[in-house]
Amino acid sequence: MAHPLDWITAGLHSLENQGLRRKLSTRNSSYLGQTIQLDGQDLIAFASNDYLGLAAEALVPAVHRVIDAVGWGSGASPLICGHGAIHAELERQLALFEGTDGALLFPSGFAANLGAITALAGRGDAIYSDAKNHASIIDGCRLSGATTFVFPHRDVTALRQLLEDSSAFRRRLIVTDSLFSMDGNLAPLDKLAELAEQFHAMLMVDEAHATGLFGKDGRGVAQHLGAEDGIHLRIGTLSKALGSIGGFAAGSQRVIDWLVNRARSYVFSTALPEAAAAASLESLRLVRAEPHRRTQLLERSAQLCAQLRQQNWDLGTTSSQIIPLYVGTPQAAVDLSTKLRQQGFLLPAIRPPSVPSGESLLRISLTYGHTPHSIDALVATLEAHRPRP
Ligand SMILES: *Cc1c(COP(=O)(O)O)cnc(C)c1O
Repeated sequence: MAHPLDWITAGLHSLENQGLRRKLSTRNSSYLGQTIQLDGQDLIAFASNDYLGLAAEALVPAVHRVIDAVGWGSGASPLICGHGAIHAELERQLALFEGTDGALLFPSGFAANLGAITALAGRGDAIYSDAKNHASIIDGCRLSGATTFVFPHRDVTALRQLLEDSSAFRRRLIVTDSLFSMDGNLAPLDKLAELAEQFHAMLMVDEAHATGLFGKDGRGVAQHLGAEDGIHLRIGTLSKALGSIGGFAAGSQRVIDWLVNRARSYVFSTALPEAAAAASLESLRLVRAEPHRRTQLLERSAQLCAQLRQQNWDLGTTSSQIIPLYVGTPQAAVDLSTKLRQQGFLLPAIRPPSVPSGESLLRISLTYGHTPHSIDALVATLEAHRPRP
């Protein structure tokens, strides 16, 4: 007799056969610097989003202080009674950091995108979304009920054409990652801002991988490209370079007020622990006080890219700390990742559905914690696997 869940067994087999089945490993150590223990094996990991090396140690004293003072859980959603003084202070500091009127804390970056997009656009509206936007943006577009036009990756000309050909909507929203998480590319935010202005569209930019890293003050790619004024809503995460947890939206006060009323992932979810907000406050302080973390990381990223290109690796057009090694098939990616892991390096294989088929890759995430010695060791190891022309 068939079981109602038998389709899952078949589905998992099918994933396995295509080299697409994902399995969890368990980390048995903290992520100090660059080494971790995974399933009992010591590895130099090029796999973390803790870009500034803050997650494991630097934020901990601030967290202890707040746990001792106010405890752990926040007990309620923000609008009921979960919004504590430390959350409020973090929102104030985030707005100062971003140079916006206001900022709003979400449980995660994923929740921020979902909440913001569904609050800004609905049935009768149009959303223009880059083909390589993060899953949380894609899901926000789907959930919103708006008509979504997916434009080719970073293709301003195609976007302009789409905007020209679709003027009959009530409201229009352009949405993009600023630093794409799979290929390391930067979005042409200055040009997108021009288009938004010309076509009277809203522009929302997700700086998840760039907050704390790009721009003079570490605000992100928008600052780096001088495009901040043209952006109506910025999304960021506290869980990547800032080493903490949570997401945020930053913008004008009326946008923030609207999100407080209409972003369902904000309204109907418990506020983060205040201790988590305290950790983020401390990381914002460190982003200001220790700019060498980001400048050194971006310098080393550029050096590593140059070395790998010399080895003939296809890195696409990355210009960031996210460095893809394109290898083609999902199986090729898994094979190379497995070989490197046997040699003590963790470089995750990125496969469909995270990337289109044929564009499978190994992703190097470089962080401030990586020493020149371990970067050299990676380069030496990759030399043995370099693609032959
Ligand atoms: C990681 C990521 C998110 C999600 O952020 P979390 O805080 O981890 O939920 C959103 N957008 C982009 C572009 C991301 O890379």
